[in-house]
Amino acid sequence: MAYYSDQYDLFLSSTQSFCHQCNNLNKLIDTHIVTKDNEVFLRKFCPKCGESMVKISTDLDYYKKCDEYLKAPDLPEKALTKVLKGCPFDCGVCPQHQNHPCLALFNITDECNMKCNICYYSAEPGLGNHRSMEDIEKMLATLLETESEPDLIQVTGGEPTTHPQIVEILQYLKKSPVRHLMLNTNGIKISQDESFVKELKRLGGGFEVYLQFDSLTPKVLKDLRAKDMSEVRLKTLEMLEKYSISTTLVVVVKKGLNEHEIPDIIEFSRRYRCVRGIVFQPIEEVGRINAEGDFKITLSEIRQIIIDDEKNPFTSEDMIPLPCDPHKISVGYAAKSMCQDEKGEAFATIKPVTGQLPKELITNHRGTVTFERDREFVKTVIETVSLDTAMGESIMSEKIKQKLFCCWPDFLAPADMGYENVYRLVISEFSDVVNFDAVNIKRECNFMIEPERIIPFSTYNMGIEFSQTKIKKFWV
Ligand code: SF4
Ligand code: SF4
Repeated sequence: MAYYSDQYDLFLSSTQSFCHQCNNLNKLIDTHIVTKDNEVFLRKFCPKCGESMVKISTDLDYYKKCDEYLKAPDLPEKALTKVLKGCPFDCGVCPQHQNHPCLALFNITDECNMKCNICYYSAEPGLGNHRSMEDIEKMLATLLETESEPDLIQVTGGEPTTHPQIVEILQYLKKSPVRHLMLNTNGIKISQDESFVKELKRLGGGFEVYLQFDSLTPKVLKDLRAKDMSEVRLKTLEMLEKYSISTTLVVVVKKGLNEHEIPDIIEFSRRYRCVRGIVFQPIEEVGRINAEGDFKITLSEIRQIIIDDEKNPFTSEDMIPLPCDPHKISVGYAAKSMCQDEKGEAFATIKPVTGQLPKELITNHRGTVTFERDREFVKTVIETVSLDTAMGESIMSEKIKQKLFCCWPDFLAPADMGYENVYRLVISEFSDVVNFDAVNIKRECNFMIEPERIIPFSTYNMGIEFSQTKIKKFWV
């Protein structure tokens, strides 16, 4: 007589994970990906703790759609470690990895002027350890070995603006062969030091501030950041708006705390000309995480809130899987133009375009950085956008390209509109001991850059003991 488990409906595939109950990061355990009531779970088998189920998606249809968007791997130009113990123990980057560094993170200091409850790096005042210019030169050289034309370097920490040579570092990296440079910051220095903002402005195009934002309410900010940052956020945005510095708002989402604010944050962001969009980041169980109970939220839950929100125009078709890491990143791009609301205040009109582009156009490209050289692709995007946005004619009349995100096709914006006419929503989920999937981790495209290694962001933060890479770990 056949036996059916009432724990799950369908078995989808096998992978490996870590047990989040005994937290043993030295040993992978057998794991199945299964479905139950149209949700997707990791079913883990730990020899010590037994079976456990972890929800990884609340939307089976979208989960399946992610596989349809997967594109041919765009590999690093060179591996820096060998395969010795197998993934994820050989990070550095090893020959098994299936993605190049779309985003290269340069950690320039362990110092911070805050002590957030959710800091993945456990940074705080007094840690110091500012990296020297020599270290940063080595980090760049290591990155260039694996990616000769990097798309995006993000300067991070700790809080990078506490580094006494922050301006010099940004200027140095801006002159490197990188296409875009970002500063990941809590905004404190920008809100207080106008001369620093002027230096940022002098960096010119291709520079962007990645601003910690999280919430519009003091209670939520105190929960996540141990401090009410409301005034700092507003003052920082005022400065960035004044100097027209491209800005992405970064919102860490903790279940039961701030997911209900997502529609209001999108609405709020449309009041600023300088804001190019929002990255929503589900909270991770890494570093100094001060949270209990069911605080983790999936990418699919955030996506659902965005597409259910009637105030923003992004639909299910517009929030698509990013082809290089489809299960972990969802993106929606829009054309943006500043108008006025009924009270006469600045407010952006947004016309999503992602839903209008044929899937094959996005996934058929082998390289992620070659879209702009593909005339047929460029032509189709222009035609599609021109049909569906109020700015179509203007877009049709120009040929200027703006690079946005290496794995997403260039959005074509005319010279008189430029990058300020682009708006994007991104949901970016990282891996931790709870949701770790040994198949999917090989597609991670965010890398921490060390002087002699480049390491996927998630495995770096998890505190895994690597076979050939030593990194300083404050959280161990
Ligand atoms: S995560 Fe990537 S770099 Fe790290 S061991 Fe696995 S395949 Fe190699
Ligand atoms: S999350 Fe950022 S601002 Fe907060 S303590 Fe960590 S490095 Fe500092």
